[in-house]
Amino acid sequence: MRYNTNEPEAKAEILCPYCGSTNTELLSLFGQQLLTVQYYCNVCHTPFERIKDDDVLEDYAIRKEDQA
Ligand SMILES: [Zn+2]
Repeated sequence: MRYNTNEPEAKAEILCPYCGSTNTELLSLFGQQLLTVQYYCNVCHTPFERIKDDDVLEDYAIRKEDQA
């Protein structure tokens, strides 16, 4: 059972390749290539691309739920 509602549910952690922070935001599901997605790091303010894999898609699904 979960009582701590401040804790995000098992969120996929996307690490910034520049500073290693997980404080990243999904910018777009479509990067410059079909298999990449665009992320933005809130710490070093650098956009970066990531290969679209299960972690990314799960992260995207969770973020969509958050917005609903
Ligand atoms: Zn960063």
